[in-house]
Amino acid sequence: METVVIVGAGQAGIQAAASAREHGYDGRLVVLGGEPHAPYQRPPLSKEHLRDGVEDQRLALRPPRFYTDAAVDVRTGVPVTAIDRTVGEVVLADGERVPYDRLLLATGASPRELGIPASPSGVMTLRHLGDASRLRSLAADAVHVVVVGAGFLGLEVASTMRALGKQVTVLEAGDRVLGRGVSSTVANALERAHARDGVRIRLNDSVRAWQTRGDGRVGGLVTTDGRSLHADLVVVAVGVRPNVSLAECAGLPTSDGIIVGPDLLTSDPCVAAAGDCARVIDVAAHVTMRLESVQNAADQGRVIGAWLAGAPARRYAAVPWFWSEQAGRRLTIAGLVGAADEIVTRGDPDAGPFTAFHLRDGNLVAAESIDAPADHMAARRLLSSSSARADGIDRELLADPNVNLRAYATRRAEETVR
Ligand SMILES: Cc1cc2nc3c(=O)[nH]c(=O)nc-3n(C[C@H](O)[C@H](O)[C@H](O)COP(=O)(O)OP(=O)(O)OC[C@H]3O[C@@H](n4cnc5c(N)ncnc54)[C@H](O)[C@@H]3O)c2cc1C
Repeated sequence: METVVIVGAGQAGIQAAASAREHGYDGRLVVLGGEPHAPYQRPPLSKEHLRDGVEDQRLALRPPRFYTDAAVDVRTGVPVTAIDRTVGEVVLADGERVPYDRLLLATGASPRELGIPASPSGVMTLRHLGDASRLRSLAADAVHVVVVGAGFLGLEVASTMRALGKQVTVLEAGDRVLGRGVSSTVANALERAHARDGVRIRLNDSVRAWQTRGDGRVGGLVTTDGRSLHADLVVVAVGVRPNVSLAECAGLPTSDGIIVGPDLLTSDPCVAAAGDCARVIDVAAHVTMRLESVQNAADQGRVIGAWLAGAPARRYAAVPWFWSEQAGRRLTIAGLVGAADEIVTRGDPDAGPFTAFHLRDGNLVAAESIDAPADHMAARRLLSSSSARADGIDRELLADPNVNLRAYATRRAEETVR
């Protein structure tokens, strides 16, 4: 009997296992997860789980019976320590060897550290369920919370801590919030929303040194510009590093991610990678991309699930999308922000629904929406319809909040089919 092994029981790994079964794979299917918990979703860890403490079961990626019904052998708390590609086996921390015919690496990413020595207790990062539980318990008696990094994660944590009544300061080394992945229009609107909520954001500033209380807990910090800040709890959210060491030690090419082609296969035709850990290099399209989002992990998991089931590998080509919730606002992004030469706006970023449509050479390449789910869905449809890109797009129509964009997107999609 054939064996498929998936390393990493996260969003990409579990989706790939489910999709392999949906594609008719009836061999042995083993998912090896390094964490002690049943597979769970990460997004609530900085949002409702942190705020309200939703039960761990509600974080589950799949109900427990899914794994028995689909005969997916999920083993948790068993880190994989090596891949022996010469014989086609993975080696577990306890020395057990599990053979594979096809292997998927879905190892995710780990938080970057600040690199400041002697970090006291109460200075932490947030990636895993264990981190979230610890953060919740430390937050219970904290008054002053400092978040280092004004990216998506940092601002979500800041917002949730503020909702819990904490005094929150965010330190950001760059000259604006959300420096990666959103336009300055959206970044500035969200920064103002956080300020209205009472979150203090200090740009061009970071941590120089920690201050430790007598009991070993953090008491404060010295910023790079020399000021002292009081802090009972510090959350460092300065980005992640893809988990590549397993692939690297097995001789697979890596470069800020496990290198895969557009079909998600590594240089070894029996080994694929998907999700946060995978860097897709499409030489023909001059694209190199590694995304950190649920959509990317799940969609890549779906595509590679078919390959795990024995189908030929196929090109991964989904429209990327992402969401974040912060300062009482829901941000959604479709496409990749950054390649635009023109931005068409619809609505007021500070009040009510707003969308910034990003155009390049007259064609839609991305859309950022604040509290505008209908615009976001229409943008995704427009981006996936090739005519929207090929023929250019009607700017006046995009900018007019009275126009039903969904109907326009549907019309464009029908024109593509004809
Ligand atoms: C707090 C938080 C909030 C987020 N919010 C959002 C959001 O609002 N929207 C959004 O789109 N994205 C969000 N994300 C990002 C999103 O969760 C990730 O992009 C997604 O989980 C990536 O899935 P993955 O399967 O690639 O990796 P992961 O979910 O990280 O899963 C990888 C798993 O592999 C395991 N692993 C690693 N190495 C080994 C090994 N050697 N052996 C065994 N197991 C191993 C890891 O422990 C981990 O459990 C958030 C992330 C965090 C941390």
